[in-house]
Amino acid sequence: MIKPARRLDKVHSDIRGPLYEEALRMQGQGIKVMKLNTGNPGTFGFPMPPSIKQALTQGMDQAVPYSDLRGMTEARQAILDYHRVRGLQGIEMDDIYLGNGVSELTGMVLSAFLNPGDELLMPTPCYTLWSNNTRLMGAKPVFYHCDESSGWFPDVEDMRRKVTGKTRGIVIINPNNPTGALYPKEILEGMIALAREKSLFIFSDEIYDRMVMDGKQHISTAALAPDLPIITMNGLSKSHSICGFRAGWMVISGPRDETKDLALAITKLAAMRLCANTLMQLVIPAALEDNASTQAMLVPGGRLYEQREATTGVLAQIPGISFVKNQAAFYLFPKFDTKKFHIEDDKVFCHDLLHATNILVIPGSGFEWDQQDHLRIVMLPQADELRAAMERMGEFLNARAK
Ligand code: PLP
Repeated sequence: MIKPARRLDKVHSDIRGPLYEEALRMQGQGIKVMKLNTGNPGTFGFPMPPSIKQALTQGMDQAVPYSDLRGMTEARQAILDYHRVRGLQGIEMDDIYLGNGVSELTGMVLSAFLNPGDELLMPTPCYTLWSNNTRLMGAKPVFYHCDESSGWFPDVEDMRRKVTGKTRGIVIINPNNPTGALYPKEILEGMIALAREKSLFIFSDEIYDRMVMDGKQHISTAALAPDLPIITMNGLSKSHSICGFRAGWMVISGPRDETKDLALAITKLAAMRLCANTLMQLVIPAALEDNASTQAMLVPGGRLYEQREATTGVLAQIPGISFVKNQAAFYLFPKFDTKKFHIEDDKVFCHDLLHATNILVIPGSGFEWDQQDHLRIVMLPQADELRAAMERMGEFLNARAK
């Protein structure tokens, strides 16, 4: 028996874990399962925008060699312009690194930043990319509470209580996965003030920044804190429905005398993998010019908007479910009355739901949520399919409430 490395012992992925395996088994038996486990628009018929297809087909020949370890000049220039317009100050081309998705870059920056025993503050509920990579480095994710009763905004006082001598930084995921919350300026300023006071590094995952609804505006953390060392993450997986392209980037901002050693460490790691996939780098300038295709999905009549309305419209009618309507992204993290629905273990509950309704969802515990009373719904199927699925969920809950 070959023993895998012990550093993986604490890493878990419920998004592609046992429930997912069970869904695959059911599919193998010919059962049609609605797989709401991943935020993967392409699998629900979201097409790649024509602007991207054109950039890819016209530029393919330029993508033959390895690029610069940080990424192609044209792509980084487009990213630089994008973040400057959004208020990031003092950044230059060499502060930008392209990666095979935010996922790869998160692994890279956390291995450049964390030592075993370090603590990193991150939200609960949390997208586990951040917590798992922290554990992989032998460091400890320490979870700050996001408060459902205040729109899932981070509780800055809880964050403050959790700072110890080992705390090195704060992870902010805004807009958030799994809650779909968009943080207002005051909340960001509260977290920034704490980082300033305790000398904490900030990682700001803003991959959903272009996916905001209801006339709201996303505010970039780094734009509010030019005096602090910050790494901002972003990418095209969601806004341009091209998850499989693996198009992500990061920007290092803040005082260079504070960030230069970390930047050197990140550069070493970027050099070790030579470069990010160049085909995806080709499409970045065109994608960042084409905000219109993303916006069209988010306004009344647009797919993401209507899918949210369909889902929340049905769920609002089911006694025992409550939720905060998401203002960004395409996730909802509803709460279930555990007494009424006899829920003791959210994994068992989601397993029962899968068997009764053929809907696969990820329980709250898969997002580092320590209660058994939530699950995440990915609102990517067409509105009528989501409506029907939520009605099936309602019937299942109704039967369970008896
Ligand atoms: N960050 C957040 C908050 C996400 O929700 C996701 C994917 O769901 C990612 C990062 C991963 O993005 P990428 O496809 O760029 O690796």
